[in-house]
Amino acid sequence: MTITREVMNIENHKRIYLSPPHMTGKEQVYISKAFESNWIAPLGPNVDAFENQIKTYTNVKGALAVSSGTAAIHLALRLIGVEPGDHVFCSSFTFIASANPILYERGTPVFIDSEPETWNMSPTALHQAFEEAVKEKKLPKAVIVVHLYGQSAKMDDILAICNYYNVPVIEDAAESLGGLYKNKKTGSMGKYGVYSFNGNKIISTSGGGMLVSNDQDAIDQARYYATQAKDKALHYEHSQVGYNYRMSNILAGMGIPQLQVIDERVEKKRKLFTKYKEAFKNIEGVSFMPEAEGMYHNRWLTTMTIDPTLWGKYPEDFVKALERENIEARPLWKPLHLQPLFKNHRLYSHSINDVSVSEKLFRTGICLPSGTNMTEAEQKRVISVLKENLQEKSKSPMVRIESFR
Ligand SMILES: *Cc1c(COP(=O)(O)O)cnc(C)c1O
Repeated sequence: MTITREVMNIENHKRIYLSPPHMTGKEQVYISKAFESNWIAPLGPNVDAFENQIKTYTNVKGALAVSSGTAAIHLALRLIGVEPGDHVFCSSFTFIASANPILYERGTPVFIDSEPETWNMSPTALHQAFEEAVKEKKLPKAVIVVHLYGQSAKMDDILAICNYYNVPVIEDAAESLGGLYKNKKTGSMGKYGVYSFNGNKIISTSGGGMLVSNDQDAIDQARYYATQAKDKALHYEHSQVGYNYRMSNILAGMGIPQLQVIDERVEKKRKLFTKYKEAFKNIEGVSFMPEAEGMYHNRWLTTMTIDPTLWGKYPEDFVKALERENIEARPLWKPLHLQPLFKNHRLYSHSINDVSVSEKLFRTGICLPSGTNMTEAEQKRVISVLKENLQEKSKSPMVRIESFR
């Protein structure tokens, strides 16, 4: 520790972020065009171009650029017609934004656990949830499946179950742009797909999202809802509740050049992952999020689990140790069924030894800095801090293991 400190110069102390924005340098060209033409509005030529680009890239017929990924999920639920009291099945292991829009419509989320091969929605638990729903004569209105950290869920199995019950699927691909499932783009397989361009995502418009679907009429309807639900009339006529959800023409200009290099970004993220994996390959009790057969992971964030029964240390210990060296890391997402907001909501578990898969992951895993603009030296710094923390076992591991049980 002391030796490292002594050789540390200013450069070595620069903060390393988890997933900072990474501009191409060409954003200004599109932003300037918006200013020159005075298209300073939601809608405009950059928005149209960005929508067309997403359609081509993901191979879907319709796309609607909106103000956030959360807004896109909300629009999908609205199009499906979720009403107060309706059930919506949703992955539990995800960020809160996957489920918040269910509450906007006063629906009831029912959570589905992860399975170990993809860390995403367990088809087994989903199947159980449907069987129970049939018994209770209350099928869900929709299923929201999340492709967490950039890896697809097992879509063939999930779509087969949902198609059997005739329930539409919303793919939350906010983190997985560029990720593939059997050569299909994540987000392009369900009734609706959702992308996010928030500041931390693989490409960023500072804030923004996209709703995609092969149902062009549905996208037109979403466009209507997203622009205050204006009916056809010279004056302002409204027969339904609408939203102000469109993307700004200035921000869309940031998305265009980044989407042009998305495949390079994915390659870079995958390289960072490979380096991390290589660096820890001989360390007992350390493993990484797997890449299941048929998947192409975009490795938005490299995520690792560290066995606390071996090391006596928990995610918070590693996150704090990295923070002391000015490195940003995070625990894995806290499953939604454990959130106070959802304390009375059901989970269909894919449990192993009575602990749900998502809960076990949360108790043992962290996200590592994975910015596509991270340098080799920076990644080495992250690795060496982590390794230092894996040299010494905690003095009283068992006490804390008991407390987590
Ligand atoms: C970021 C994210 C969202 C929300 O996207 P915003 O653009 O931030 O609204 C939804 N789901 C997941 C899994 C996310 O990571």
